Amino acid sequence: MSEGDGELEPLAPGLYLVATPIGNLGDITLRALEVLRGVELIACEDTRQTQKLLNHFAIDVRTVSYHQHNERGRAEELVERLAAGARIAVVSDAGTPAISDPGGWLVKAALEAGVNVWPVPGANAALSALIASGLNTERFSFEGFLPEKAGERRTRLEDLARLAAEADKALGGAAGTIIFYEAPHRIEDTLADVEAVWGDAVRVVLARELTKLHEEFLRGTVAEVRANLKTRDRVRGEIVLLVEPAQRSDGAAVAESVAKRVAAMVKEGLDEKDALKRLARETGQSKSELYRELQRERARR
Ligand code: SAM
Repeated sequence: MSEGDGELEPLAPGLYLVATPIGNLGDITLRALEVLRGVELIACEDTRQTQKLLNHFAIDVRTVSYHQHNERGRAEELVERLAAGARIAVVSDAGTPAISDPGGWLVKAALEAGVNVWPVPGANAALSALIASGLNTERFSFEGFLPEKAGERRTRLEDLARLAAEADKALGGAAGTIIFYEAPHRIEDTLADVEAVWGDAVRVVLARELTKLHEEFLRGTVAEVRANLKTRDRVRGEIVLLVEPAQRSDGAAVAESVAKRVAAMVKEGLDEKDALKRLARETGQSKSELYRELQRERARR
């Protein structure tokens, strides 16, 4: 049953994308509970994980696994049932389905089959981090996870920096905040890349363990946040990283490529080796890292 403006109505047939808590069980919504109780089947990223939530709220509904490895095959089965009038909920391990989580494929397949798709909004790590970050909330973009490989990650950040610089020009200095999901064992490398691309003064916020006991926000320049993390034995927990790109503190263009910066120094009279040395001093990156990046940029041309 679902309650609109006081009237109880039966749950309409269709696909329900139900957000679940990202750490604090109190963040489940009344409507999420109603829908989870009212459907015939709950498609879960991990049935064991969701079962804990269902047990906590005494919900006894059949579950079926639906994750990135069986998403397409399972979608077909589920859409067949939906087309026959079933009510099915999709949940991920935590947060909003289809946001860096399974769900998107099923939504497309359901819509193509003429099935109604209903959002049941609730917790989401990206937006929770953004609204408390103190960064630009008027305009933002969500990037999800960066590539795992170091070279690809750097290239993605450089591409984003170029896009942000163009947006800044077009919009009069308001490229907005970029939101990433990041794993604790990669966060320090990613922050080093953020600093290399945007400079040490770019504002970042690291939001850790949102809605949980050890929730923490580190706000500051990327250099300050990196210095803070260096004082810890290990960075743990789930992390959202927010970056608000802006002009570099030294006034250099945003995310100028290594090749461009080296070329400018060569024009000033330095040879390439000395230019890389100076750039290493200015950015805090190692000379060999910059040299590798220079080679990558040249290979991309
Ligand atoms: N669909 C989810 C949502 O709506 O937020 C995101 C799923 S994604 C697979 C998981 C990532 O989200 C984590 O690696 C972390 O980057 C971020 N995340 C999830 N819960 C979080 C939390 N409580 N605090 C900080 N970040 C969190």
